[in-house]
Amino acid sequence: MTRLDLKEVVAELAASQAPARAPMTDPFEIILYEAVGYLIDDEPRQVLFEALRSQIGLDPKAIVSAPDEALLGITRRGGMHPDKRAERLRSSARIVLGACGGDLAAALAGLPLAKARALLKQFDGLGDPGADRILLFGGYAAVPAVDSNGLRALVRMGFCLERPSWSSTYKDAVAVLASQGEPEREWLMSAWLALREHGKALCKRSRPQCLACPFDELCAHAVTSSL
Ligand code: SF4
Repeated sequence: MTRLDLKEVVAELAASQAPARAPMTDPFEIILYEAVGYLIDDEPRQVLFEALRSQIGLDPKAIVSAPDEALLGITRRGGMHPDKRAERLRSSARIVLGACGGDLAAALAGLPLAKARALLKQFDGLGDPGADRILLFGGYAAVPAVDSNGLRALVRMGFCLERPSWSSTYKDAVAVLASQGEPEREWLMSAWLALREHGKALCKRSRPQCLACPFDELCAHAVTSSL
């Protein structure tokens, strides 16, 4: 399907990109970080996450008891659906308090993989991509994962096809990462980071920068509008 080699693609991207900021590893912090903004860049998202930390705190008890206006004061600065995202912050904190004794990281560490994944999928908006990311970066399991930017790049390069549903395409993509990549956590994390950055910087959703891309000559160029 593709003339590209996945390991070579990840290695070339990792070597050519600026070093990524140390990735987040705490599962509850990742959930909060994703909920503060909707389709916004990393820099403003980080600003909002730090505002949540300083104004309310990252402790689930503090988030559950925070006034609505305090949560909304942060989520309103993060794009669309601020009400839903404020509720997502609060409902996530409630799950940690109710199902994890207040410590999601410790709860996940004590569960077998299937149950850890099931627990993570209780959190609003997480799904398989979010659960896989947390399992991988939190150090719970060396599972393949890819974000929406990386998935778009994998499809365009021809590593997998775009399916009718995003979740089916995601399943195909992680299967490719598992079969053509390396099984170690370090490689899987570097693949997630490198493919995400490639999708954001060059393999952009609406206008991919193919002339500047190192894979231009071998890429399948399966440019789609929906991913
Ligand atoms: S050549 Fe274009 S479509 Fe292919 S990976 Fe590079 S930017 Fe994406």
